[in-house]
Amino acid sequence: MSELSWAQIVRLVHERARDCCEYCRTCQRVSGQAMHVEHIIPSGGDHPDNLCLACADCNLSKAQATFATDSETNRTIVLFNPRQQHWTDHFAWIEMAHELLAERQLVALLSNV
Ligand SMILES: [Zn+2]
Repeated sequence: MSELSWAQIVRLVHERARDCCEYCRTCQRVSGQAMHVEHIIPSGGDHPDNLCLACADCNLSKAQATFATDSETNRTIVLFNPRQQHWTDHFAWIEMAHELLAERQLVALLSNV
């Protein structure tokens, strides 16, 4: 359990993420919607290392999942963890398009959005 209050944790999560979703990188100032503090591992507790900032779409799509089935390979894959992995190792924005290109680890998650 973190020694920070929940309000301090929420502030830390927002500041660390610069008010942008750590899955799709949509920013609160652009979307106009409040971001969610998301538990990366649902049973992992409220420590900041288990929390990330997520937009409503990403948070509700991921829900309790930590694994998903890749629709192309039918293999079980671990979903992206923003505390343990680097976003740019797994995703890229396509220039001049409003589309997120994902590596295998989030393809299944995004196909459910
Ligand atoms: Zn998002």
